[in-house]
Amino acid sequence: MTDFRPQNSTPQLIDQLGRTVDYIRLSITDRCDFRCVYCMAEDMMFLPRDEVLSLEECARLVKVFVGLGVNKVRITGGEPLVRKNAMWLFEEIGRLQGLKELVLTTNGSQLVQQAVALKNAGVNRINISIDSLKAERFKKITRTGDLNKVLAGLQASIDAGFAGIKINSVLMRGSNDDEAADLVQFAIDKKIDISFIEEMPLGEVDHARVSTFVSNADTLKLLHNQYSLLPSTHNSGGPARYWQVADTSTKIGFISPHSHNFCESCNRVRITCKGELFLCLGQDNKADLMPLLREYPNDDAPLIAAILDSMRVKPKGHDFDLRRARPAVVRFMSHTGG
Ligand code: SAM
Ligand code: SF4
Repeated sequence: MTDFRPQNSTPQLIDQLGRTVDYIRLSITDRCDFRCVYCMAEDMMFLPRDEVLSLEECARLVKVFVGLGVNKVRITGGEPLVRKNAMWLFEEIGRLQGLKELVLTTNGSQLVQQAVALKNAGVNRINISIDSLKAERFKKITRTGDLNKVLAGLQASIDAGFAGIKINSVLMRGSNDDEAADLVQFAIDKKIDISFIEEMPLGEVDHARVSTFVSNADTLKLLHNQYSLLPSTHNSGGPARYWQVADTSTKIGFISPHSHNFCESCNRVRITCKGELFLCLGQDNKADLMPLLREYPNDDAPLIAAILDSMRVKPKGHDFDLRRARPAVVRFMSHTGG
């Protein structure tokens, strides 16, 4: 019989290709106070509350995964910090033995109020999404966001003393693709890192992805003209490649999901706010964990068996193709978690 060891165990999540999964990304809500044009349609429909994992279910799931050898957890969404009582979950996860890193991806709108509590709960690092430093443009991209609030939240996070803060930026042709250098300079001035994420065809939005796509290769070329960039050995185990800006503390990451280079070392799985365990961001292979959570409230064994079994169907790699008329994957990033 399988030995389901408690927390702090050796890795047990190993897929068919021998890749060890030690990192989960959990979306705790599909809701958001922003409506970023690349992420959501303007009239986005959100899930009924009873179809979304409760915070207790989220905590139970994370505990089970940590027991199976996961040592890094990213909380994301939707906007995780707009979920009521989200801090309780951060505190619960922050207490787990065996977890090395608790990290968060947020749009920053709630950080003025929550940064210190997040730090105290045990959050190590924060990614804050900022696509423009121009207030009007920021509003246009996010449809509802207030840049000044987000920048104040970023400063509150710097003051709170997280081990790492990184800006995430999605560049779109004809919208904010002239801001790459300004965003990098901002990160240098703040002594934080920045990553450029290529737009991914996740869910149907109000524009054709191919018309706005900016390749990271072009952005890197442009930045090379303005900064001395040294290849960095930093490796997050994901699709990002890093460059160090010479004579600064800032690293620039390029998250290029359209390249396949990273799939062979993929160490992560994603759990949606509906409890679906997706084995790859760009494929539909999944295991539904919500029915097991609800059918067996006091017995983790069926859940553990399903998670172990899911390793058989972790795909070799994604299947993104921007030229397709329909998105490769119909679900939105806000469901799956970025
Ligand atoms: N609301 C939080 C935020 O914006 O940071 C967390 C969730 S959001 C889905 C996570 C990340 O996914 C953000 O950095 C966002 O820019 C990125 N994202 C959303 N949709 C995307 C898409 N279609 N292609 C590439 N990145 C996307
Ligand atoms: Fe909300 Fe983040 Fe999606 Fe923007 S990218 S709409 S902030 S979930």
